[in-house]
Amino acid sequence: MKINDFNFAGQKAIVRVDFNVPLDENGNVTDDTRIRGALPTLKKVLADGGALIMMSHMGKPKGKVKAELSLSRIVKNVSDALGVPVKFAKDAGNAEAEVAALKNGEALLLENLRFYAEEEGKPVGVEKGTPEYDAAKKEMKARQADFAKKLASYADVYVNDAFGTAHRKHASTAVIADYFDAGHKMLGFLMEKEVTAIDNVLKNAQHPFTAIIGGSKVSSKLGVIKNLLDKVDNLIIGGGMGYTFIKAQGGKIGMSLHEDDLIPEALNVMAAAKEKGVNLSLSAATICAQQFSNDAERKEFPIDQIPDGWEGMDAAPESLEAWKKIILDSKTILWNGPVGVFEFENFAHGTGEIAKYVAEATQKNGAFSLVGGGDSVAAVNKFGLADKVSYVSTGGGAMLEAIEGKVLPGVAAIEK
Ligand code: AMP
Repeated sequence: MKINDFNFAGQKAIVRVDFNVPLDENGNVTDDTRIRGALPTLKKVLADGGALIMMSHMGKPKGKVKAELSLSRIVKNVSDALGVPVKFAKDAGNAEAEVAALKNGEALLLENLRFYAEEEGKPVGVEKGTPEYDAAKKEMKARQADFAKKLASYADVYVNDAFGTAHRKHASTAVIADYFDAGHKMLGFLMEKEVTAIDNVLKNAQHPFTAIIGGSKVSSKLGVIKNLLDKVDNLIIGGGMGYTFIKAQGGKIGMSLHEDDLIPEALNVMAAAKEKGVNLSLSAATICAQQFSNDAERKEFPIDQIPDGWEGMDAAPESLEAWKKIILDSKTILWNGPVGVFEFENFAHGTGEIAKYVAEATQKNGAFSLVGGGDSVAAVNKFGLADKVSYVSTGGGAMLEAIEGKVLPGVAAIEK
């Protein structure tokens, strides 16, 4: 079922949202982006004349009640954003009374789902690999199904709008969907947008298609890189992860970040790129420092001739020139990960330039650009360019798994 085709009038809707918002030490919400992200879906339920039940996790309480992670702390923020009073059910697993009292046009927020270990469904207090683990896992899966069934019993219709947890098979993100028929479960507007944006690059890409993969470690993005090799025309590898590739080619990288154990994988990626006709573009020159510090002296070296005692910190102009050309020639762009230590003002230039090129390709050339994964999102925000790219993904881990080619349980549960 598509949310736009569903009329919530007279229906109780249980909506999985991602209200895992950052709080300061006094429990005040410091960034309400995630609450605002869910509003289109939440408002549609209310505007249609439905009764709205919201559920989310916050933090990692690991099955224990932790006052500092209570969603009661954000009730006012959700009320203000929604424009209606929000009621609160302080036990997500025993909310029958609050649900029964909920009228059309009213909104209810359930307490943090992860106060129940059943939400994540991982056995508690049993080590992986021990003889007891398998039995404990089986038992927990059964308890998870019961918990999901309980949540499902609160409502007539289930909506999943929590993209950030779509890669998890949790009670509220996937298992619950088993208790609704196809006409009564759907993705929310935010999830639909995320899924469409990812399909635009993975399934319906216009060519040339360029992926820019930066960040610190090859190990965390190897699956992404491998899956992209079958889809892209250009693969730009920058940032900390680039040095493993340079070392694999025999370059001198000084004390730059690298992973020796991934050198064989880096060689495989380079060979596969060649075989598949993908233009793999590594950095040509790099701005280096002798200490990992914003105030360190900066010096430029060719990327494969970094002296001992120096480490690569940012992309140098020669690299940026080459990447600019590739990016501005592209019709589809996927960007994940900064091309330098952008948290340090003095080494943020390269990442800022990439953000500008991606924005320019989008605005002037009509390219479709998807930016995702924590730090690249922070980067486009830092340079004020978030609204100049086609889509900024809100779910780093989920987006990376989707780009690795994995099926997201949160999406699959709705579609099956
Ligand atoms: P990731 O989470 O893998 O996307 O990595 C993001 C992190 O990579 C950021 O904190 C950057 O500071 C870091 N990073 C990018 N380039 C470098 C580099 N040349 N040396 C060390 N860290 C880097």
